[in-house]
Amino acid sequence: MRTLSLATAMMRHDVAIVGGGCVGLSVAKHLAAATDLDVAVLEKEHHLASHQSGRNSGVLHPGFNYPPGSKKARFATEGTARMKEYCDAHDIPCEEWGVLVVAKNDDEARRLDELADQADANGVAYERLDSQAAIREHEPYAEGQAALYAPEAASVDAEQYVYALAKEVRELGVTLYTGYEVQQLTRTPAGYRLETSNGQFDVSMLVNAAGLHADTLAHQVGVGEEYQVVPFRGEYYEVRPERAELCETMIYPTPDPELPFLGVHYTRRADGKVIVGPNAVLAFGREAYENTDLNPAELFETLTYEGFRKLLTSRKMLGVAWDELNKSYRKSKFVEASQRLVPDVRGEDLNKSYAGIRAQLVSDDGELVKDPLFVERDDAVHVLNAVSPGMTSSLPFGEHIAETIADKHDA
Ligand SMILES: Cc1cc2nc3c(=O)[nH]c(=O)nc-3n(C[C@H](O)[C@H](O)[C@H](O)COP(=O)(O)OP(=O)(O)OC[C@H]3O[C@@H](n4cnc5c(N)ncnc54)[C@H](O)[C@@H]3O)c2cc1C
Repeated sequence: MRTLSLATAMMRHDVAIVGGGCVGLSVAKHLAAATDLDVAVLEKEHHLASHQSGRNSGVLHPGFNYPPGSKKARFATEGTARMKEYCDAHDIPCEEWGVLVVAKNDDEARRLDELADQADANGVAYERLDSQAAIREHEPYAEGQAALYAPEAASVDAEQYVYALAKEVRELGVTLYTGYEVQQLTRTPAGYRLETSNGQFDVSMLVNAAGLHADTLAHQVGVGEEYQVVPFRGEYYEVRPERAELCETMIYPTPDPELPFLGVHYTRRADGKVIVGPNAVLAFGREAYENTDLNPAELFETLTYEGFRKLLTSRKMLGVAWDELNKSYRKSKFVEASQRLVPDVRGEDLNKSYAGIRAQLVSDDGELVKDPLFVERDDAVHVLNAVSPGMTSSLPFGEHIAETIADKHDA
């Protein structure tokens, strides 16, 4: 019998997808379903959903938040509908609770009008609520002067979604290598060589969907050098079960268009737990999930990045950074932020829960990249910014990338 030493083996495939999160696996699913290509997914963790795809709010955002005609709007609206069908077909918990976006002042109420216009243009259902009484009919503990209720928003079990995708791609013939960290990417005359923690791979085409590390891999082959990932940790508290009535569905603040990912909100998850968060605090490492975790090399990389330094020159950003830092280290500040939407919540109602880290792409000129961004080469696609709502969008987004790769293969 022939034995294969994985430590020294050289593996060959037509396409390597680096990263087994919801984006990489969705690309694999659509590529395997539509082509005869021999596809491999390389995932550094032994357990899937260890990073963004398993550490998020699990909310399907139906697309009222995004400018009409934008990729974000198209992917989110289509993604919400397709995710619901997928969850149904694969027995993944999915609860269509609907979301209440609450305005606390006149400025925010005006922004709700803009959201309503966007919802109309994007074909997203909504209802305008113009009084505290109308809000209380939906959410007895929420406080605001107006709200937009979007019934199509839903909560899904994000981890089960990733595992369902993994099962499906295996059935479609994709090889899923878990525990394979890609450490070095190099161009070869016939494509790419990937040096991994478990041996070498030679492939003709590459999809880089490595989330928090996508920029590092892209830079190794000279792609996206004008961008860097800056990790922002989002921490959650859980409302203790006896007080879960504080939020029956989902309660969100009116988003700030400049900083759309900010604003502690309430989410009833698909398993019925109510979580509050996330905040958005600079993480001292790309996988620094605790506020005591520190990766000196990665922190140095962030602090010396010119894009990050330019970002901090804005007074508004500095103020926000300070507030978010406070919410991370002082529970009382987090509770205060949570009381903005639900005044009855108390410190003793909230228990510390999990955290996720956003791979926020920042450009050399100090801009937060807010749209999905992927960079194409003749034989590769690098997903540099699978920005929120990346899980909601993952089916159409992954399909789009799979089509792009298939076209390149046929060209
Ligand atoms: C706190 C938070 C809340 C969010 N809430 C929502 C929400 O409610 N709704 C929504 O739609 N979206 C939400 N998002 C966004 C969403 O989670 C992401 O857009 C999405 O999960 C991105 O998927 P991904 O596959 O690109 O990344 P990931 O899930 O991070 O996957 C990348 C994978 O690549 C692997 N990898 C990295 N480097 C290597 C390497 N060198 N070799 C091999 N493998 C590697 C990693 O281990 C990882 O599994 C949220 C994100 C965060 C952080």
